[in-house]
Amino acid sequence: MKFSQNFSKTSKTVSAETESINAKLLTRAGFIYQELAGAYAFLPLGWRVIQNIEAIVRDEMNKIATELHLTSLSPKEHWQATKRHDSVDVLMSTKAANDIALQKSTAEYILNPTHEDIITPIAKQYAASYRDLPFATFQIQTKFRNEARAKSGLLRGREFIMKDLYSFHTSEEDLKKFYEVAKEHYVAIYKKLGLGEDTFVTLASGGDFTNEYSHEFQTILESGEDTIYLDRKNNIAYNKEVATPEDAKKLGVDFSELEEVKASEVGNIFPLGTKYSQLLDYYFTDNDNSRKLVWMGSYGIGISRLMGVIAEKFADEKGLVWPESIAPYKYHIIALPDKANIDAAEELYKTLGKNNCLFDDRSDVSPGEKFGDADLIGIPTQIVISKKTLEADSVEIVDRKTGNKELVKISELKN
Ligand code: ATP
Ligand code: MG
Repeated sequence: MKFSQNFSKTSKTVSAETESINAKLLTRAGFIYQELAGAYAFLPLGWRVIQNIEAIVRDEMNKIATELHLTSLSPKEHWQATKRHDSVDVLMSTKAANDIALQKSTAEYILNPTHEDIITPIAKQYAASYRDLPFATFQIQTKFRNEARAKSGLLRGREFIMKDLYSFHTSEEDLKKFYEVAKEHYVAIYKKLGLGEDTFVTLASGGDFTNEYSHEFQTILESGEDTIYLDRKNNIAYNKEVATPEDAKKLGVDFSELEEVKASEVGNIFPLGTKYSQLLDYYFTDNDNSRKLVWMGSYGIGISRLMGVIAEKFADEKGLVWPESIAPYKYHIIALPDKANIDAAEELYKTLGKNNCLFDDRSDVSPGEKFGDADLIGIPTQIVISKKTLEADSVEIVDRKTGNKELVKISELKN
C-alpha cells in the first residue's frame, strides 16, 4: 500500500479519554478507530494485523477441526434452555429501533456472547449416532458482551473477535484426548504469534466437570487484568482465583515459591463434560443401541485481545513494534522527499511486492515526520532511500526492533 492511499492518518495525540496503552498507540498509528466505549473499527493497517492473527489461528485449527460460521443473533429460547438467559451478566439483546421498524417485527434477539448454547442444538440435529462422533468445529466471529469496564482498549471489548471451537465425543476419555491435542495446538499458536516465552498454561476455575479446572492461556502483561502465580520450573501457572495455598498443596506445589505476575487471558479451554448435553437432552445412540450423553469441550481464543496484548507488550517509546508473523507489512519503504528517491522507491515497491510493503511515497512531508511515522507504525523492516544511499546504489535497512542500520546494494535486495 502507498502511504498516500492510507486514508487513516497517523496522529500525534489521542482523546484524553483513551486510557489504555494499546488503544493510544493503535489509534495514533491509524490501526483502530473507537466507535464507542469497548467497540473499535479496524482500519486498513489494523485489519491486516487481525487477518494475520486469524491466519495463524485458522491454520492450527484446521488441523483438528472444520470451520463454520454461526449467527450473531439468536432467539432467547436458546439461552433460556441452558438457564443462562437470566444468569450471564454480560448478555446483550437487540430489537427493532423505531416505531416503523417495530411495525415490521417486534422480535428481540440475543447478541451471542459465546456459542455453546447455539452449537449444541445444531450438533444434536445432525450427530445423533456414535458413527457421527467425534467431531470438532470452529469459527472466527464477532462476540458481544455488556462488559462493565471497557477501558482497556482491545483487551476488553463490548464487541470483539473470538475464535471458538467446540468438540463432541462419545466418551470422557475421547474428550480428554482431544482436549490435550487442542492444548498443544494452542501452545503452537502463541509461539507462532511471538508470545511463546511469555504465555503460560494456567489452571483456572470454570471447568464444568470432574477435574474442576479449566485451562487459561495467560500472557505476561503489566496492564493485564489477571494475576497469576508462575511455576517457571514446571512451566505451569495458577490463576490467583484458584491459587489458594490448599489448592497448591493438592497439586504438590510449594505456594511460597511461586512468582506473582500480571497477565492477560488470551485463551481459555474448557472440558465441558456433559453439562450442555444434559441441559439440552443431547444423547447419541451407541453401537450397542444404548442412549448416552455426548461429551463436549469448548476452546476460545481472543483474536482482537491478542492484537492489543501484542501491541502493548512489544511497544517501545517510539511506538509499535510488530512481530514479523503478524505485522501489517514486511517492509516500510521510506523515500526521502525528492523525485529521484521516490522513483527509485517506486521500482523497489514493485519488485518487493505491493502486498509486502507500505511505501511512504509522500513528497510533502519532512524526513523526520516519515521516520516518526514509520517508528510509530512499527513494521519490522524499514528501507530508507535517500540521495546519499542512491549515490552508493544502495538503500539503508533499519531494523525497527533493534535500530540496527545497514547499507545494502539495491541489486542485492532485488535478489
Ligand atoms: P475474561 O475473564 O477476561 O472476562 P472470559 O473468561 O469471560 O474472559 P472466555 O469466555 O473464556 O472469556 O472467552 C474466550 C477468550 O475471549 C478469552 O480468553 C479472551 O481472550 C477473549 N475475551 C473474552 N472476553 C473478551 C472481551 N470482552 N474483549 C476481548 N476479548 C475477550
Ligand atoms: Mg475465560
